[in-house]
Amino acid sequence: MTSPDTPATAANSAKSMDDIVALCRRRGFIWQSSEIYGGINGFWDYGPLGAELKRNLKDAWWHDIIRCPPKGPDGDMISMVPVDCTIIMNPKVWIASGHVAGFNDPMMDDRDTQRRYRADQLFVFFPTNVQTRHDTFGIAVEAVNLQEAEQRWDDLHKTGAIEHIYKLASKQFGFNPDEPMGIAGDSGDQLTAEQQSRTFGPNHEHPGDWVVGTKLTAEQRDRTIAPSAKKFGTLMAARQFNLMYQTYNGPIQSDENKVYLRPETAQGIFCNFKNVLDTSRVKVPFGIAQVGKAFRNEVTPRNFTFRSREFEQMEIEFFIRPDAAKEWYAWWRDARYAWWQAVGLAGENLQLREHDRDELAHYAKDGAGTSDIEYRFPFTSPGFGELEGVAHRTDFDLRQHAEHSGLGDKLKYFDQERNERYFPHVIEPSAGADRGTLALLCEAYTPDATRPSGVYMKFTPRMAPIKAAVFPLVNKDGMPEVAEKLYLDLRQKWAVQFDVKQTIGKRYARMDEAGTPYCFTVDGDTLKDQTVTVRHRDTQQQERIALDKVSAFLAEKLA
Ligand code: ATP
Repeated sequence: MTSPDTPATAANSAKSMDDIVALCRRRGFIWQSSEIYGGINGFWDYGPLGAELKRNLKDAWWHDIIRCPPKGPDGDMISMVPVDCTIIMNPKVWIASGHVAGFNDPMMDDRDTQRRYRADQLFVFFPTNVQTRHDTFGIAVEAVNLQEAEQRWDDLHKTGAIEHIYKLASKQFGFNPDEPMGIAGDSGDQLTAEQQSRTFGPNHEHPGDWVVGTKLTAEQRDRTIAPSAKKFGTLMAARQFNLMYQTYNGPIQSDENKVYLRPETAQGIFCNFKNVLDTSRVKVPFGIAQVGKAFRNEVTPRNFTFRSREFEQMEIEFFIRPDAAKEWYAWWRDARYAWWQAVGLAGENLQLREHDRDELAHYAKDGAGTSDIEYRFPFTSPGFGELEGVAHRTDFDLRQHAEHSGLGDKLKYFDQERNERYFPHVIEPSAGADRGTLALLCEAYTPDATRPSGVYMKFTPRMAPIKAAVFPLVNKDGMPEVAEKLYLDLRQKWAVQFDVKQTIGKRYARMDEAGTPYCFTVDGDTLKDQTVTVRHRDTQQQERIALDKVSAFLAEKLA
């Protein structure tokens, strides 16, 4: 059952990402970085509302993970400590972690459109019953998974682009599109171009095979058309592309001075494992957590902030006895899933997905498991996109650093209870603050034709960028003074706005779009009976409460 404050949320599949992006821009949640110069691909800025929203998410994580972590699987308190490490580290860190040798994405360039694709995100459809005079040809679409590829294939039909592609195919491979093309239908009959276009038409029940870009043979590539390309055969072979940004440390731009912008925050934690042990009196099991920027030169940044080149991570490395990995892995996986629910992703748009064995990183193959906490974004719907990964990383990282730094056994943990030295195993919950913020935005976005704004943002009060607004009904008759006093009091504790401009209806509309859960209006009656109107965002209902109870009201609602 939904409470009056929380009417059912619209399904994400029905929400338009374009509308969400437009609202983010219009209301100052998220803008393109350096927009006045045309922006820069893969980089985003947070405006006044977005900065508050993202901070609320990071603050909630910091509070719930570092200051007040939940009790562990056995009901005991757990120790968590924070670190804040540099973005540029000694480059040997990235050799030890495996990022220099192996942090690669396979990419494919298209000579015709000059576009670059991640080869594992290029799906090529080869109709299989193309016979006789002509070999089959491939039509590529860009998608994160097969489900999305099938949608893109649908789009090609809906927009009529597919017919144009068939014409190109017939021209390039030398057949006349107006004559029977030698393509056999399911019945074995020869089809005319028109029949063929119907066969491949909106239902596209035509049998065929999908081949992922990474698996394309050279021959298949020669007969494939890239997205938006004007001819077949312009895709180049897949190449490995290292995602780390490089720069130089100091004034001399030589190979010895090459350094990297960190592609994850985790390695700063591993490098300080011994420092933390030596200074913080922590005992296994314990965790080290960090929030900070990470940089990846993603081949194809896309889907708004989902895949950015600069983003923020919220990472935990939780150190445990090797024989306790199963228990802690399951506990962290469930605790992190529950946390995302608690910050407002409570519905069917959130799912936990255990990785198949062949998806696991090499070091995780013998581990307790890896799972992703995934959100159904409007652009992945009906599929899901990763918000956070929870992985049992075994003792891989500590061993690597022990070897590469020369510290060897000195990096081991001494377990006093067991009188034993070992490399602890690690459970790593690694979350993205930007993907989290984007999920909050998508979840909150609620079209509502009955409101002047046409939409409102249904953030949980804890995540709402502005917790309350204070309005004098009119800007005279003593109302602004009372309203200002209330505002100055409330803003000591919460992000609150004061607004006197335009009609009260327009002010409510602005707050609906900002997702402000409560608006307090000071009117003529306030001066007589010391009460104000409180308006609830979700129900639009209004009630009167005592002026001197507003702070307590908000404290209770925001608790
Ligand atoms: P993907 O498979 O989507 O590239 P990943 O598995 O490489 O993600 P991790 O290395 O596990 O991601 O990073 C942990 C978290 O960091 C992810 O769950 C995600 O929230 C965030 N993240 C990773 N890459 C990006 C990016 N390019 N833009 C925004 N957030 C990112």
